Amino acid sequence: MAEPIFSATIDYEQITRNARSIIAATNVPLMAVVKADGYGHGLVESARAALAGGATYVGVAFIEEAITLRDAGITAPILAWLTPPTADFTRALDFTIDLSISSFDQLTALLSASEITGVVPRVHLKVDTGMTRSGALDEFPELVSTIGELIDEDKLKLVGTWSHLACADEPDHPLNREQRERFLAALDYMASEGIDPGIRHLANSGAVMHFPDFRFDMVRSGLLLYGYFPGGAASNHFSVAPAMELSADVALVKRVPAGASVGYGARVRLTEDRYIALLPMGYADGIPRNLKTPIEVFIAGQRYPLIGRVSMDQVTVDLGSDTTVKAGDRAIFFGGNGASSADDWAKAAGTISYEILSRIGGRVPRLAGRINPY
Ligand SMILES: *Cc1c(COP(=O)(O)O)cnc(C)c1O
Repeated sequence: MAEPIFSATIDYEQITRNARSIIAATNVPLMAVVKADGYGHGLVESARAALAGGATYVGVAFIEEAITLRDAGITAPILAWLTPPTADFTRALDFTIDLSISSFDQLTALLSASEITGVVPRVHLKVDTGMTRSGALDEFPELVSTIGELIDEDKLKLVGTWSHLACADEPDHPLNREQRERFLAALDYMASEGIDPGIRHLANSGAVMHFPDFRFDMVRSGLLLYGYFPGGAASNHFSVAPAMELSADVALVKRVPAGASVGYGARVRLTEDRYIALLPMGYADGIPRNLKTPIEVFIAGQRYPLIGRVSMDQVTVDLGSDTTVKAGDRAIFFGGNGASSADDWAKAAGTISYEILSRIGGRVPRLAGRINPY
């Protein structure tokens, strides 16, 4: 079979090594966060790679993601945290999936599903400590007492108590400490009610990097697992490396005369004869269209700037006034030795590496393989 003309090469062994590094540096169990198709790296394969590196828990947003992991034979505990009362709790219970609970609405729906299935739910109680997304706020004390009663009646197993940080990629932000204090206060309240919180977890990748005292009984790491650092700045405590290389075959090389414009909107006009390469990937594949600063792709050992607007399926590259690049050469958008990184793309597009990685389009084949280390 021919190589696909564009692909994301995923180095799953690198994800395994990254998991190992996170565990070695934190000394607590690791929940591998693989939501959104493993941040674009593949849901099942990324989970397997992280578990091979010693992760003992898997975290996803949706019950459907968790069921896909179970169908693939993954038996590790899995927490799904985006669970509206309308979510399919019955199936979640059938597949032994841990569920996050932030409200009585969710709890009531979960208990109905439990009655139907006869399965005792495994719950992680979520506290809102200042992120203001999910997590119990006003309802927290009453939820705690209700959960206490359900535990006594063997109708619920409280597996964990947790919260999520809003500013962990900004270590100096005062909200980090405030959120930790509120988390401790919630745990104190549970202790005063005689309720065992189970696994206490708060830290995401940013907190894993910056705050040893936020680790509690487990950390939940996504971005570090894929070899990038929240905020874009590396930390020498973590020897992680990117696991994705995004590349495409050069579709066409041609000489274009001075005066020609390039791409939609004719925003760029050539002031001299140039060689232009056409690459068959565009914004439908996750190449950001709203680039604010120049960005380069890597072809045959050299970096070349994109020129003109990003189209849906293609981009154009300025090869200069003379070139040895030929159609069929492989162009690397990011990843690997000498190429741009997802952080470079994030900077150019005014976003974060999370968005660059997780938006790689569904039609881009993910191929397991080695990528050159940085
Ligand atoms: C995505 C997510 C994480 C992982 O965040 P990273 O910054 O990628 O480590 C952890 N917890 C929750 C609730 C999340 O949604």
